[in-house]
Amino acid sequence: MSETVFTRQPHLSPLSDAERVEILQDPGFGKVFTDHMVSIDWTWSEDGGAWHDARVEPYGPLQLDPAAAVLHYGQEIFEGLKAYRHADGSVWTFRPEANAARLNRSAERLALPQLPEEMFLASLRAQLEADQAWVPTGEGQSLYLRPFMFAAEAFLGVRPARQVRYMVIASPAGNYFGGELKPVTIWVSRDLARAGKGGTGAAKTGGNYAASLLPQLQAAEKGADQVVFLDETHDDSIEELGGMNVFFVYEDGRLVTPELTGTILEGVTRSSILQLGRDMGMSVEERRVTLAEWAEGVRTGAITEVFACGTAAVVTPIGRLLDGDDVIESTGGTEVAMKIRAELEGIQIGMVEDRHGWMHRLV
Ligand SMILES: *Cc1c(COP(=O)(O)O)cnc(C)c1O
Repeated sequence: MSETVFTRQPHLSPLSDAERVEILQDPGFGKVFTDHMVSIDWTWSEDGGAWHDARVEPYGPLQLDPAAAVLHYGQEIFEGLKAYRHADGSVWTFRPEANAARLNRSAERLALPQLPEEMFLASLRAQLEADQAWVPTGEGQSLYLRPFMFAAEAFLGVRPARQVRYMVIASPAGNYFGGELKPVTIWVSRDLARAGKGGTGAAKTGGNYAASLLPQLQAAEKGADQVVFLDETHDDSIEELGGMNVFFVYEDGRLVTPELTGTILEGVTRSSILQLGRDMGMSVEERRVTLAEWAEGVRTGAITEVFACGTAAVVTPIGRLLDGDDVIESTGGTEVAMKIRAELEGIQIGMVEDRHGWMHRLV
């Protein structure tokens, strides 16, 4: 397959160096966007449809028909990965092939077209070629890349859209939860779920996030930072947070994460941590973990750490669990979580050997 060619329309008045440097001091998360964006359109045809009009343009609002199917039926998917500046100035991303594959698994479930891996990788390169000055250099900082695909066709009938757009936008990122890394409090959603059997839980799609917002609000009312969802069909098994997977560290050196059941999103961070755990000589398990096991494990000391993981927040220790009126205080341990975090971030920023070939140079 030939390399995707992008037409390039540079921004005529990009942010000044001084303004950009000011923003990169403390970018927060998802608040500021770079000067450019990437788009590729897809149009259906009898013999399968095709991607066309790949372009890099100044970042700005879209002109979208009010009948665009995404606004009505939520046919959309997204990805999230980061670009890291290495000491020699080069810019790299982490396991983008895994994101490309997941985008296509999500696309299949949402009846959106497949995007060739080459096109996905070329779109990230095109974004970075235009905006490489936006990759911050501060500790823990990166440029968050947000590829996404949505139904752009103006049509209110219910069927997969015949006009689809794939885009990439980018946003400089610091610490996801803001400020110092401190253990987060989690609230168990007993009544509301983000996903169900046969649904879209394993796809990275906006609808799952929409379903998580009310429980997230309830969590916040209880004083928690995040909500944890349970497997509705298997009573008290832990699934994941609204946008992060969960790990348990056992006193005897086991590293356990809930198995993929079709309702859990398969995180790239999750699978990387399973590998890093093995590398560190831990025995890793993917299996059901019930709330009762969590409570009991913390009480007896069998579970020494619980942490959440995902691209945005990397690895974040979970300090306490609120379940109705019950409070499960963790042991407060963060040693393994921090060790894994340091290893992962070390690989990503080019300070630890990339022994699994995970890094991919963009510019
Ligand atoms: C994106 C996402 C994750 C984390 O995936 P990573 O590839 O590690 O960033 C976990 N859960 C949900 C629901 C997600 O959307």
